[in-house]
Amino acid sequence: MIEYINLPYSADALEPIISARTIEFHYGKHLKAYVDNLNKLIIGTEFENMTLEEIVKSSTGAVFNNAGQVLNHNLYFTQFKKTVDDAEQNVPIGKLAEQINKQWGSFEVFREEFQNKGVSLFGSGWVWLSADKDGNLEISQEGAAGNPITRGRTPILTFDAWEHAYYLDYQNRRVDHLKALWIIVDWEIIERRYYFSYGFSLSSIQ
Ligand code: MN
Repeated sequence: MIEYINLPYSADALEPIISARTIEFHYGKHLKAYVDNLNKLIIGTEFENMTLEEIVKSSTGAVFNNAGQVLNHNLYFTQFKKTVDDAEQNVPIGKLAEQINKQWGSFEVFREEFQNKGVSLFGSGWVWLSADKDGNLEISQEGAAGNPITRGRTPILTFDAWEHAYYLDYQNRRVDHLKALWIIVDWEIIERRYYFSYGFSLSSIQ
């Protein structure tokens, strides 16, 4: 059975960037449905005893679509923190900040490219920051339930570009939603995922 995760914050913690009403639908209805569908689909199959990541990497069709959406939303919902007062203070830290500066020149340039990839993604999908085993970063657009884990990369940060992620709060203004999300990104969590991607054990950085 694949687990339906608990949110690490209350439904209204991300207001006004993401409203409690959006969380109630997005986490409470959409993610719940993907988890329930996936668990129905994998009963009695080769996928039944696999981890979620293993299912995403080895499945196709309906199993992949539901497993991908569960993994993507798990990573999405666990990367945010309560809205901070000073958005300009909320920036990448540590080795991740160094690597972003090395590849993009500055966080501002990186942020612009990431947002733009989310805005220009046609239809439903996700924009991802992922790392290879040497720590090299890449921004990519993935349609539908796509995740760069299927290309052997470690997913680090993601913005959900499906309309259900923002329509209640921003209607058709996807760009405004994506720009606002930087305020609630928890860079300590993103940094930890980055370390994990190239073999540091979690305990060594705590
Ligand atoms: Mn979603």
